[in-house]
Order: sequence, then structure tokens, then C-alpha cells
Amino acid sequence: MATLETLNFDNSFSRLPTVFYSAVKSQPLKGARLAHFSPDAARLIDLPEAELLRPEFVEYLNGQSLLPGTYPLSQVYAGHQFGHYVPQLGDGRAILLGEVMNQQGERWDLQLKGAGLTPYSRMGDGRAVLRSTIREYLCSEAMAGLGIPTTRALCLLHSEEPVWREQLETAALLLRLSPTHIRFGHFEFFCHSGQHEALKQLTDYVIKTHFSELGRGDAPYLALFRWVVEKTAVLIADWMAIGWTHGVMNTDNMSIMGLTIDYGPYAFMDEYHPDFIPNHSDTEGRYAHKMQPWIGQWNLGRLAAALTPLVPVEALKEALSSYEKIYWEAYTIKMLAKLGLSQATDGVTELITSLLTILTDYHVDYTVFFRQLCHFQPGETNAAITSHFQDPARIDSWLADYAWALDEIEEPLDQIQARMKRVNPKYILRNHLAQQAIEQAEQGSFKAVERLHQLLQTPFDEQPDCESYAEPSPDWAKRIVISCSS
Ligand code: AMP
Ligand code: MG
Repeated sequence: MATLETLNFDNSFSRLPTVFYSAVKSQPLKGARLAHFSPDAARLIDLPEAELLRPEFVEYLNGQSLLPGTYPLSQVYAGHQFGHYVPQLGDGRAILLGEVMNQQGERWDLQLKGAGLTPYSRMGDGRAVLRSTIREYLCSEAMAGLGIPTTRALCLLHSEEPVWREQLETAALLLRLSPTHIRFGHFEFFCHSGQHEALKQLTDYVIKTHFSELGRGDAPYLALFRWVVEKTAVLIADWMAIGWTHGVMNTDNMSIMGLTIDYGPYAFMDEYHPDFIPNHSDTEGRYAHKMQPWIGQWNLGRLAAALTPLVPVEALKEALSSYEKIYWEAYTIKMLAKLGLSQATDGVTELITSLLTILTDYHVDYTVFFRQLCHFQPGETNAAITSHFQDPARIDSWLADYAWALDEIEEPLDQIQARMKRVNPKYILRNHLAQQAIEQAEQGSFKAVERLHQLLQTPFDEQPDCESYAEPSPDWAKRIVISCSS
């Protein structure tokens, strides 16, 4: 275990030339206080809880004093936003404090989000509001609980510092962890600004630092791209199977490590609908739920384009062409697992598509349905499942086919259903639950944040006294509009 002062920093990114970043200083927030922390995330960097409770912890994060061993910097990148190329973005409100090597030899970026102006802030104020910080904090830890690759959130500070969005709010600070925060947009920046030597240096850096095994092959750049294609396809299959929509899949929000990153107006779906759009500023539905697999592929195409100075185009195209197959295989396996099945025969894959059509037509809650399916009893009425359908004829017929498919498996039903419960969560971070926690936090209480944070660490377990968190969203909650300003 480490103390704050003995964290094992190895700031490899800061050793790159300064074309990649600007050294910065965070601007302390007025009245910053620790609102909540994740002991699980702290363990990733060998920090015991007692260290997080020291007053120095807040002082270090809030830039009142320099955490020993750090080299605060903001990275430059570009990106395709809603399909249009923006030649320069960058960490407009994020500061990389440094990289900690933990006792297992893993590397973790410590990044502050909301720490003030940087050279990449453009028109922004460098701040993150409490509302959006809680959403990112809770969702990244919820995704980790679900086993979905994600950046992690170690803690959340709140403050008295006023910030203006659509109304007056207060600023907060998130400490985010990730093996690296490098995005597709980093590669786009150096390719499209004609800095091809730097592009090579960045790619060599990523391989050397994070994929040393790829560096030993004879085509490491292509191997890196293939790896990213695979991880991205599998990640998006995870999102689709769990019923989650990112909302802003710009290439600057795509992690080179295949992690979920930059939580904005995301949502777990309540009622299943493939056209679901969580981001109300996305009027065309570019980032609608059903679009995510295709956007993932399109974004990988932008990464491929950025790698053309290093890899022959034909090889990149060939690697990208494997995306669709990897995605569909991963998605099918995950959906079959939700049903307790494993053999992807034609009849069984048809079960998935027909089920999704029925759920759409009857506006059925996605998470509740799959969890209740874990209690399905062939030959019985199964009222808990069928009661969600105004006219049960179609779901009854589907359940009859499903019973056949289950019957093919030589495994006792209770074992099948125990497996199903490990992939069909009972608890998800529904928008209205996050919203209630935000409203309490804005009044000064972080109890609801604590409760949700705790609950979502083990989303597959039955948790006594938490039944109400597992219920479908009430009607009023479906009308909540998540602000896109953050
Ligand atoms: P996002 O939509 O949060 O992924 O941000 C897109 C870009 O805008 C990134 O380069 C961010 O760093 C930047 N940005 C977003 N909000 C702010 C802000 N309040 N101040 C400065 N830069 C910001
Ligand atoms: Mg972003």
C-alpha cells in the first residue's frame, strides 16, 4: 500500500516532446470538499481509504499544493464531432496529473476533470458541473460493476464555485483513472495536421507503453489497429447487450484501449427501443442506440485514415473489414448468454431478433424483462413476465419457442438460470435514480450517491431493501431531459 506522498509515479507521457501536450496548473476551486470516493478504484493505485480521508488529499487534487511525483499536463487531440472534423480539440478541462504504477505493475493515468482552463479550453470555462460529474462518477463505477470496460472514477469533489450552464450551478472535480486517456482523436490530430513524425512517435509510444507484445511482431502498427478494432467491436457489443447508449460517440470520445470514456448524456434504456436517443441535441439520431455498432465501425475508419502514413491502406481496410463479424459474434454470444443459451443456431438467433421486436412493440422495460426471464418456468403461466404485455399472445408464443431451446440444453434449469442472473443485472443506473442523487447532492447530501454507488458495485446480486431500485422507471421519470451541457 502507498501513501499520497509515495505513489509510484512514472510519467511516461510527459517524457514525449511538448507537441503532444502543454504543461498546466490546475486552478483551485473555492471551498472544495471530498464528496465521495470509491475504495475499489483507490485500490487500483494501492491507496488505502485512510489516505483519501487526509485533508492533504483534497489540497493535492484541488491544486492547492502539488502532489509529489506529478507532472500536470493537458493533451492535444482532434476529432470528428457528429461526422465533422474539428482540427483541434484537446483536454479543455482535463489535467493528467501523472501515471501511477501499482504493485501489479499496471499503469494508471490520474486525470482530473474540471480543474480549470487549459490551452485547449476554446470557449469553455475548464469546469465540470456537479450534475455531470456525479453522472460520470456513478456510471463509470456502474459499468465496472457490470464488467464492461471503462475508465474508472476514484473520487468526486464538490465546491462552492459557481458556474453558468443553462442556469447557475456549482463546479465539481472528478479524479478519473485509465491505463491511458489516449483517444482516436490523438492520432487524427497528428495525421491531419501533417505532423507524421509525431504520429509515428505517438503510435510507437502507445505500443511500447501499453502493447509491448505487439511491438515484437513484424507489423506492429497494423497489429495495434487490429487490436483496437477487436476491442471496440466487443465493447459496443457489451453496450448493446446491456441496453446502454453512449450518446456522443465522437472520435475524440473513443478510447484507444477500447474503454467506455467520456460519460455525457448517456442512458441505460428503460423501455426497449432501437431508435432510442439519449442526447436531445442529437436531432438526427446519429448516436441512437441502434446506430452504435455502425458508428463504432465508422469511427474506426477515421482511426484507420489517421494511420495511413504508417500502414498501407489495403492492410487497414482488410483489418477494418473484420469488425462486422467480430461485433456480431460478440453480440450474439452476449445475447444468447442473457437467454441462458449458447449454441448460435439459426433458430436460436431468430429468438433474439423476434424477442427484441416484441419488446419494442409492447414498450417493455429491457432490464426488468431479462431479469424476470431468469425465473421462467416452462409450462407455467409466468405472469410476472407476461403481465408486461398488453396482449400476451406474442410473448406466449415466443416463450413456447424459448422453452424448446432451453430443453435442448443438458443442464438443470436452476443452473441455467443462475448463469443468466450473472449477465442480466437486477440494478442499473436509471436516469431518474441518478437525477434523484444529483438533486440531493445539490442540496448538500451525498447519501443517495453513496447508496447508488454501493448498489451498483454488485448489480447482479439480489440486495435486500433495494427492491425499489430494480423497478421500471415511473412515467414521470421518462420525461426527464438530460442536459447536454456539462
Ligand atoms: P465533450 O463533449 O465533453 O467530450 O468535450 C468535447 C471537447 O470540448 C473536449 O475537447 C473538451 O475538453 C472540451 N470541453 C467540454 N466542456 C468544456 C469546458 N467546460 N471547458 C473547456 N473545455 C471543454
Ligand atoms: Mg470528450
